[in-house]
Amino acid sequence: MLRILIQLLLHANLLKETVNTMAIKITDECINCGACEPECPNTAIYEASYEWKYSDGTSLLGDIKLPSGKIANADKEQEPISDEFYFIATEKCTECVGFHEEPQCAAVCPVDCCVPDEDNVETEDFLRGKQKFMHPEN
Ligand code: SF4
Ligand code: SF4
Repeated sequence: MLRILIQLLLHANLLKETVNTMAIKITDECINCGACEPECPNTAIYEASYEWKYSDGTSLLGDIKLPSGKIANADKEQEPISDEFYFIATEKCTECVGFHEEPQCAAVCPVDCCVPDEDNVETEDFLRGKQKFMHPEN
């Protein structure tokens, strides 16, 4: 019984160590100031109603298989994620891993509306893999 309990605790610690980062999302508190957009090293931030592409600001071209397993065409315009506020294309956000110590959008946002996206919990290794996938030259 004690052994099982220890194993469970070890497992819990392991999860705590590996699942500790997330993509970032922009909430409806956004005031559309635009300060975050030029700060994103992955060109993952877009103005409301903007059709975005995986190839914007990355090395991605043509048909691609994303680290998440999703199939897409990097040059195809994608539907805007918000028609009201700036938005983040989750598949392109690495929480700035590979470029900066902290999320740059959150660092400059005047109303603190760039927050961790609980629906997109990703390990640091996975985020680093996303960054390498988009920017193999770095
Ligand atoms: Fe871009 Fe970094 Fe913000 Fe993600 S956390 S949207 S990579 S600036
Ligand atoms: Fe919106 Fe903040 Fe970006 Fe300004 S910096 S556009 S308030 S998310």
